[in-house]
Amino acid sequence: MGLLTIGAFARASRLSAKALRRYDDLGLLRPARVDPYTGYRYYEEVQLERARLVAWLRRIGMPLTRVRSVCDLYECDAGAAARDIRAYWAAVETETAARRELAAFLIDHVSPAAATTAPVARRDTTMTTTLGLRCAALSDRGLVREVNQDAVYAGDRLLAVADGYGAHGARAGAAAVEALKRIEAGPPSRAGDVLNALEDAVERANDALDGLDGSGTTLTALLWTGERMALVHLGDTRAYLLRDGEVHRLTRDHTVVQSMIDDGSLSPEEAAGHPRRPLLLKALDGDRTAVPRPDVRLQDVRAGDRYLLCTDGLSAVVPDAAVRRVAAGAAEAGEAVSALVGLVLGAGGPDNVGCVVADVVRG
Ligand code: MN
Repeated sequence: MGLLTIGAFARASRLSAKALRRYDDLGLLRPARVDPYTGYRYYEEVQLERARLVAWLRRIGMPLTRVRSVCDLYECDAGAAARDIRAYWAAVETETAARRELAAFLIDHVSPAAATTAPVARRDTTMTTTLGLRCAALSDRGLVREVNQDAVYAGDRLLAVADGYGAHGARAGAAAVEALKRIEAGPPSRAGDVLNALEDAVERANDALDGLDGSGTTLTALLWTGERMALVHLGDTRAYLLRDGEVHRLTRDHTVVQSMIDDGSLSPEEAAGHPRRPLLLKALDGDRTAVPRPDVRLQDVRAGDRYLLCTDGLSAVVPDAAVRRVAAGAAEAGEAVSALVGLVLGAGGPDNVGCVVADVVRG
């Protein structure tokens, strides 16, 4: 079979000659032959399929290292390659959703005051300035575990849950919540600053765990800015919003099982009893060389909203429908947390449980 020059191969594959030289350097797409005297690259026609796949994957924004692994997978296991593309895209969509919210917030944040005469923005301002929180927190050791390693907190502006693990898990969870309480104690920061403050607090929390050998914690918290809720999240503790009769989950578990759901290798039903369910992809563990990046986002707030934060001792033990029914049915926050912990104990209390409920009320 005749070899194609780099120019002909570039035209056929829709990749530039410059890109082809780069992909050769990276080992992503090696020419069939390189002339030892001129250095010209030549390709075989059968390489076009890989080249086209590279071009398409680049069009969806996939980084080159991952493109290479997908292409290698495709040559031995097309199904695995398909799953990897699906997983990549699920992660892109998650990231995009978070950016969309941040962009909406930024537009609002930088808009000149005159622009807030738009009906939506003005209504938002007048509504949120008079809102307050009524909240309650409750944690229980459960019926099986010897110690309670779940930490919960509900203050004037901060709601937090943490699920510690390891020999010093209880200290780890408590330390993570303490790090956030320092933000609550400070002056109310503007919504734009608060996300950075939360990220800094997570780093401080991680530092505080240094030396707690092999122990760590998840952390999910909401900080009320007076205008919005700022969310910070790591691990498999969760936050939900109950609004207008609907339940919205605000967090995505950083777990092996969630990533298997995302890439289509596991259904949500199969995930419920999966043996690897507790395996975390992200948590605070005191490792200063690899501080995990938490998910942060801003959430608009309305009167009548009810927020629920919980550890996996609730979400993995009690079916979703029962959590929703009980969380929505309680008249006030204290009643809600008692009823939710009651559900867990009624189900055998196999794990520690912690939950926080906060109602947004007109001040
Ligand atoms: Mn737990």
